[in-house]
This record gives sequence, structure tokens and C-alpha cells, in this order.
Amino acid sequence: MRFSKLLIPTSKETPNDATLASHIYLIRGGFIQSVGGSGLYNFLPLGKRVLDKVKQVVKEELDRVGCQEVSLAFVTPASLWEESGRYEKYGKELLRFKDRKENVFVLGPTHEEMMVNLVRQSVKSYKQLPLNLYQINLKFRDEIRPRFGLMRGREFLMKDGYSFHADEADMKREFDLMEETYKKIFRRLGLEFRVVEADSGAIGGSGSKEFMVLADSGEDTIVVCDGCDYGANIEAAVRQEKVCDAPAPQLGKEKVHTPNASTMEELAAFFDVDPFYLVKTVAMRALYDEGRSEIVLFALRGSDALQEVKACNAVDANDLVEVSEEELASAGLVAGFMSPIDVPEGVRVIVDKTIEGATDMICGANEKEYHTTGNTIEGNLDYHDIVAVQEGDLCAKCGGELRYTKGIEVGHIFQLGTRYSEPLGATFLDENGKSQPMVMGTYGIGVSRLLAAIIEQYHDDKGCIWTKETTPFDLYILVSNVKDEAQMRSAQKLYEELSAEGVDVLLDDRKDRFGAKIKDFELLGIPYGVVFGKKLSEGSVEIIERKGLAKEEVSLDEIKDKIVAKVRG
Ligand code: ATP
Ligand code: MG
Repeated sequence: MRFSKLLIPTSKETPNDATLASHIYLIRGGFIQSVGGSGLYNFLPLGKRVLDKVKQVVKEELDRVGCQEVSLAFVTPASLWEESGRYEKYGKELLRFKDRKENVFVLGPTHEEMMVNLVRQSVKSYKQLPLNLYQINLKFRDEIRPRFGLMRGREFLMKDGYSFHADEADMKREFDLMEETYKKIFRRLGLEFRVVEADSGAIGGSGSKEFMVLADSGEDTIVVCDGCDYGANIEAAVRQEKVCDAPAPQLGKEKVHTPNASTMEELAAFFDVDPFYLVKTVAMRALYDEGRSEIVLFALRGSDALQEVKACNAVDANDLVEVSEEELASAGLVAGFMSPIDVPEGVRVIVDKTIEGATDMICGANEKEYHTTGNTIEGNLDYHDIVAVQEGDLCAKCGGELRYTKGIEVGHIFQLGTRYSEPLGATFLDENGKSQPMVMGTYGIGVSRLLAAIIEQYHDDKGCIWTKETTPFDLYILVSNVKDEAQMRSAQKLYEELSAEGVDVLLDDRKDRFGAKIKDFELLGIPYGVVFGKKLSEGSVEIIERKGLAKEEVSLDEIKDKIVAKVRG
């Protein structure tokens, strides 16, 4: 295609809300355009080309393993969300609205209910199972802070797939197949990624994995082991149980006056003990359906930190928020001196499971300026894993050292079981004629987020660097001086010959300065450029490789074959 005929509004201006390279370059390169600066984007011709290429890879790999593409209605009746019990639970990210007849609808942030509804109407027998249906369609989430361009939009394109099975074993087989298929997809897209254990929400279990593109700008912290292939989102990461070399305080059961010692550091200094022997008690307000909420105390070792997603799952809440000192006081609690033991009536307590049975622990006394020593954490308490794994902790699998890295979540696969099929009545008759709920899996890919993830992983200080499978064009031909007829003629000829070979070429035939065109070539990130310049009179042109910007002089006779080999290679 000819640059002069395409809408590619490149710009030198960095959008003022943009901090990430992908956000800046996708806008500056004219791939996308912001709509009102609130997480809504238009895809311009170049962006649409990349999007289509990503979609194509996703579709090809899914279709190859028997998944079937459908397209669901975007507007979802709220009644389906009421059936599943998520209408309240989903919170403010769910955009709810009414039509002229006062019927309530939502814009689908994910489509479990819609897909279950589709299947329950047409699948009745085990003979029709298994089934894996997917769509590549818009989702809407009224994100509290839409940011980073395509990374966290409010409207975005997702591939969402759902599988339906007669039993758990068959669902697990499909889950493994999806993991392999997703790996193929992300490898084809040219990404460096890691598959990690993910938070499975209140449903629990180990049946959830995320696909993380490794990038410093990633919003997710992932815990990886240097000794083995263990990797997990911090929200789900586990570690070998910790031990402490420092001696336990031999203090006996006592109430001690501890003025000015309300933080873990102050307390450790006051008693001259390792924070391992202190109990840290964190109060949070847990929010539930229908506006219900309660104060919950989370107790863990002073040397550990609370992982809020784990904590939230432990009480099956929709969210956890901070509590003010006044709220604490009215519940009979004293900030800085709280304890999981002898709490005021009606305050719920969750205790980290690694301190079950711990002795010689120092706790708050639930009284201002007092702590108690010599406590044993025992009895009928509610124990859960609520700690955040820290760098340097040891791997539960191999004993190696764990460290943090940053990732961008581009895919998520989840063993759902009967979470949706039961409430929505998606049942089938098994071989014995008995009615059973279908067992489900769900599989998502952030298709539009992938554009941002690719650029986060591959860019330099000049612009984008697309991978071969995702580039909007295979080759960018630059004509140094469009008024030079010989240059224009030769460039045109190469453009036609390569197009006939199936190579996608962008011919920059604009009457701009050469310097401006080179800048656009660098900004757009097409993997190869060919420059028709002064050397043409000596029968040669220049190939520029976008990654690294290495240049190579090539004779005009060889250029076509060279490019074909590079593009196909
Ligand atoms: P995140 O933790 O990043 O908010 P999520 O876990 O809520 O994502 P899922 O429900 O797992 O997202 O959705 C499947 C995929 O959709 C994600 O893996 C991600 O790639 C993509 N995605 C989710 N939210 C957004 C968004 N606001 N903008 C763009 N892509 C998104
Ligand atoms: Mg997810």
C-alpha cells in the first residue's frame, strides 16, 4: 500500500496522559486514537491491521484443536447475571443500564452467563459434549483507573472461550490442551512469557493459570524460582515454611506496658526480639453483597506481609478496604495494639496458617499501650494462607530462592467446575439418563492488550519494533527523493514484484523530507526497510533492520530475493 493514500497520522507529540512506551508509540504511530481520554480507543488502519493479525493467530491455533468460534450479543440481560449471583458481586466495574421499557441490562465484562445460556438451550445430552466455544469480541469493564492505553482500557477486545464437559477429568484434559495451545499462540506472536499459577478467587483450588509477558512495566508481580520452573502470581504464590534462627523470647504469659511501640519495628526493638515472634494484626473492612460489610482482623507474623487478594478470598468478600481509627474504636479495637486473641465480640478473625500452634508469641493486648507475651496461637481459629511471598523466600517445590519479576497478564485459563452451570441450570443427560450439571473451563486472551504487551517487550527509544507475525506490513520502502524518477521507478517496481510474491509492503511515496520518513519508519516498527537513495545510480539499495537499525548495502538484482528470504525466514 502507498503511505500517501493511508490514514497514518504519525506525530512527534507524546500524549500527556501517557507514560508507557506502548501507549506513547501506539498513539504517536497512528495505530490508535484516544476517545475522550477515558479508556476508549479507536483503531486506525495500522492498528486494525495489527489487531487482525493477532486475531488470526489466535483463531488459527484454536480452530486447529477443535474450538468453535461464535459471536455473542454484546448487551446482556441483567437477569442472567442475577441467575448466576454475580449481578451484585461484580461491583462497579459492571456497567448496568435500562432500556426504554425499564428492562435492566449489563455490558458484558466477561461472558460466562451468556455462553452458559447459549449452551443450555441447545445441548441436552452427553453425546453433544465436550464442546469448546469462543468468541473474539468487545468487553466493557468500568475500570476505576483506566490507564496505559490498550493495557487497561474500559472497552477492550478479548478472546473468551468456554468449554463444557460431562465430567471433571475431561475438563482437565481440555484445560491442559488450552495451556499448550496458548503457549503456541504466544510463541507464534514472538513473545517471551511465563505460565504462572494464578489466584483462583473464592472458588479456590489450583486450577487457574495466567500467561505473563515478561516486562518491567507489567502491573503484576510474579514470583519465580531460579532453581526450577515454579512461577506464580504474588496473589497465589506459596513458599517453603519459614524458620527463624534467632531465639524465641522467653517471657512467660504477661501483660506488658509498651508505650510508643505500636509498629512492628518499634515492638521488635522494645522486646529485642526478631519480628518472627510478633503477631501483626491488620484490620480491614470486608465488603459483601447488598452493601453488607464487617471488620476483619488478619493475624500473621511480624516478619510477614499481608497479601490482600489471599485475605479477601479467605473471607469470600468482594473487596477489602481500609478502616479508620474511629471505626476501630467503635468496634472496641485499638489501632497498634490489636490481637487475634480475646477480640471483642462480633469481630471476625483470620489467622495465617503458618502461626497455628506457634508459641512464645507477642500480641497486642487489645488495650492502648499494652502487649501480651508468651502467647500460643491455638484453638478454634480460622486459619488460611494470607501471607505475601517475599524475595529470598524458598521455593516449596525445590528449595531454590524465589524472586520477583514483573509481568503483563495476556491470558488466563480457569477450571470452573459447575460454578455457573449449576445456578443457571445447564444440565445434560448422562449415559444412564441421569441429569447432571456440565463441568466447565474458561479461557481468556487479552487481544487488544497484546498490542501493548508486544510493544512493551519490543521497542527502543525511537519507536515500536513489531514481531514478524504481528507487524502491520512486512516491509517499508523509503524513497529518498520522490522527485528523482529513477528512484521512484525502481521503488515502484520492487513494490509490485514483492506484492505479487505475497509480501505486504508499505511504500512511502510521500513528498516529505527523507529525515522525516526515516523517523516514521523507526516509529512504526516495521521489521525491514529498503532505502532507494543516491547509491541507486551505482545499482544498489540499502536494507535496514528495524531491530538494532543495522544497515546492509544490497545490489538491486538481489534485493527481491533477499527480502523474500528475510520475511519468510
Ligand atoms: P487484570 O488482573 O489485568 O485486571 P483480569 O484478571 O481481571 O485482568 P480476566 O478476567 O482474566 O482479566 O480477563 C482475561 C484477559 O483479558 C486478561 O488476561 C487480560 O489480558 C485482558 N484484560 C482484562 N482486563 C482488561 C482491560 N481493562 N483492558 C485490556 N485487557 C484486559
Ligand atoms: Mg485474570
